[in-house]
Order: sequence, then structure tokens, then C-alpha cells
Amino acid sequence: MAHASFKRERSPSPTPTSSGRRREKSSQGQRRRSRSPSRQPKRQKTDSHFRQGAGAATPLSACTLCLGRHPHKVYACASKSLWDGSPAYCRKNDKNRLQDPTGKILCSNWQTENGCSESVHDDKHECSGCGKRDHGAQSCPRGEKA
Ligand SMILES: [Zn+2]
Ligand SMILES: [Zn+2]
Ligand SMILES: [Zn+2]
Repeated sequence: MAHASFKRERSPSPTPTSSGRRREKSSQGQRRRSRSPSRQPKRQKTDSHFRQGAGAATPLSACTLCLGRHPHKVYACASKSLWDGSPAYCRKNDKNRLQDPTGKILCSNWQTENGCSESVHDDKHECSGCGKRDHGAQSCPRGEKA
């Protein structure tokens, strides 16, 4: 009464019975593909590693408020301190504009990589990170290094 139907015998493995001579017993081909070494999403101390690849991967822009380049919502950044913990120079007003300690709204273009070509509001061309007038947030020496 043992219902012994060995499934082994009818295994649907594609065993070619006619051409049984092409049977290399090298199993290295399969071994290799299981361990792909290019899968390490860690990046902890790869600062210099990060900027390779000719211009393809641009580093993150510095946040105009905290000058940090770590991934965060820079447009919504409301940090009161710079990325390194020192007090921030600017703050955001209720319209999300950068305001210097005197309450002056700074030019936001000035803080970008391209800068601002306007000359009608020179007084707004202050670095939002430190208040200097000869550079913007992207080239501020207090900014986080790219
Ligand atoms: Zn920020
Ligand atoms: Zn401007
Ligand atoms: Zn600056």
C-alpha cells in the first residue's frame, strides 16, 4: 500500500541524452555570479571618491542656509546653525527667503553656483553663510567641502 511514486525519476530536468559529451564539469561560472563585488552602498569616508567621473556626478550644492552639502531639503532648511554647528548667519523668513541679521532679504541667485548677474541690487549680494560680499553661499569658505 505504499504509494511510492518517486518523483526523482520523472524530474523534468533538461538532460540531453543524445549529446552527452559536452559536459564540462567546471562550476566556477556559476559560483562567480552569486557574489557581485560592486554592491556596496555604504559611503562613509568617501569624500574624495565622490567627485570622480568627469563632470557627470556633480556634488550637491551647499545649502544656502546651513551651507551643508549633505542630502536634505535645502529649500525647506530652517536650520539655525551651520552644518558644522556654528551659528547660521541667515534665517528664513516666512516666505522662505533668506534674511540676514539686519532683516535684509538676500538675493537667492547670488547663492547659487552661477551667481547673479544683476547689478541693480548689489546690496543683496551677500553670502548667506557669512555675510561677505565677494562670494555667495556656494563658494563660502565656511561651507561644507564638496
Ligand atoms: Zn540646510
Ligand atoms: Zn542678485
Ligand atoms: Zn561666505
